[in-house]
Amino acid sequence: MSPEVLEPKDMEWLDKGVLGIEWSDGHRGVYPVRFLRLHCPCAACTDEWTGEIKLKSDDIPMLIRLDDMEAVGRYALKFNWSDGHDTGLYSYGFLRKLCQCDICVPVKPPTQKSKRLM
Ligand SMILES: [Zn+2]
Ligand SMILES: [Zn+2]
Repeated sequence: MSPEVLEPKDMEWLDKGVLGIEWSDGHRGVYPVRFLRLHCPCAACTDEWTGEIKLKSDDIPMLIRLDDMEAVGRYALKFNWSDGHDTGLYSYGFLRKLCQCDICVPVKPPTQKSKRLM
């Protein structure tokens, strides 16, 4: 038996700016799009050698949008971001590790939840 290939089975918007990806193994991934953008694996955003993220949180528009996405081969997704960036190839394995669901990230670092201003 060949090991089962991990790939997205289904996608949906869980919330505004939060992408849900259901994986072929049944896992339901949770991906805030700004988090995804911030972890763009392309050479301009992440140092290829050290894996260090060169982007700063401030570099990304607060209201970044995911305009489009396309599958690349059978191993990765390419996202087109509203800031014009589209060079990052998110391999499925990489994407899976970025999952922010309660199972994958049991203790969340303090995030700036959208605060009510009024
Ligand atoms: Zn990038
Ligand atoms: Zn998860």
